[in-house]
Amino acid sequence: MQVPFNDLHAQYQSLKEEIDAAISSVIAGSNFIRGPHIKEFENAFSKKTGTKHCISCANGTDALYISMKALGLGPGDEVITTAHSWISTSEAISQTGARVVFCDVNENDFLIDVEKIPSLITERTKGIIPVHLFGQAVEMTTLMDIARKHGLWVLEDCAQAHFATYKGKMVGTFGDAATFSFYPGKNLGAMGDAGCVATNREDVAEFAALFARHGGKGEHLIEGINSRMDGMQAAILNVKLSHIEKWTEKRRKAAKNYDKLLKCIPSITTPQENEHNDHVYHLYVIKLKERNQLKKYLQENGIQTVINYPKALPFYKAYDYLGHKHSDFPNSFTNQSKILSLPIHPEISLESQQFVIERIKAFMRSL
Ligand SMILES: *Cc1c(COP(=O)(O)O)cnc(C)c1O
Repeated sequence: MQVPFNDLHAQYQSLKEEIDAAISSVIAGSNFIRGPHIKEFENAFSKKTGTKHCISCANGTDALYISMKALGLGPGDEVITTAHSWISTSEAISQTGARVVFCDVNENDFLIDVEKIPSLITERTKGIIPVHLFGQAVEMTTLMDIARKHGLWVLEDCAQAHFATYKGKMVGTFGDAATFSFYPGKNLGAMGDAGCVATNREDVAEFAALFARHGGKGEHLIEGINSRMDGMQAAILNVKLSHIEKWTEKRRKAAKNYDKLLKCIPSITTPQENEHNDHVYHLYVIKLKERNQLKKYLQENGIQTVINYPKALPFYKAYDYLGHKHSDFPNSFTNQSKILSLPIHPEISLESQQFVIERIKAFMRSL
């Protein structure tokens, strides 16, 4: 038995007719850039997320950069974000000329430790970027209180958490703006790169749309960048958007299956779903001491796993210049050598999950 980490082809097969028709309609109308599919997607997505505006763009990393430009970020400013995550967030901060300030994560939910944020705030701090990592929302009540108290903006990175909720409220609707990625492997994925900015703020929406499209068409009011979602991706996303609730339900169910099956292995920590949260399980991340050996063993048994992420960001060469030590981010440092993401996607079968667990048990017995 082979268990791939993700199975994009299975999802395509289940929607083949609809997706093929959507792609054909883009070609028939030559709506490669701009066009009706883009508008349709922006409207449908903002409606589902519950934000007034959605500005489509080329990818989730651009969405972060565009949002920060719209929020007025630049050289001399500082932004606080999570230490153990994907690099897009910190990369985009640096791209604006601002300085990245990393904050450690909680040991058990992998999310930014909001209690540590106040000690990182200086007179140069302009904003906070919480990442709703692996599909679960950050503790937003506390985070928003801190931000309001210090007059900081909040930009939510929702790349891994489409339609996750916190206290019944959708991620992306707490802060000043939010960013989404539709990279193929994300919970809502295109067939290429795509992303968007979602916001309730009129000024942010207006600037983002201008900045992402060369500073305006016809009259260039500012210098911008070229960051567009193409028509093909929008048409595909329009098809997929109506299936997202069902897929999220399936991800949650698969996660519960793993939870149940793993319960009898005390040396493995299963992911913590916090109170008030509806986790959408972009990733199912377990922790154990023998992580490297288990990963290798599963690979040899046809089971693909991933480490998200092998090092906390401050420990990569790219951030040597910040001069951090391991003890600056104790939880991130502990987690980086223990975490392992098991295969999870809406189409995963119970048989595959049982096989994964059976192999994990066999490995544990061999220790
Ligand atoms: C995927 C991802 C991004 C970036 O998305 P791209 O579309 O690949 O540019 C940003 N932040 C997080 C947390 C991500 O997982």
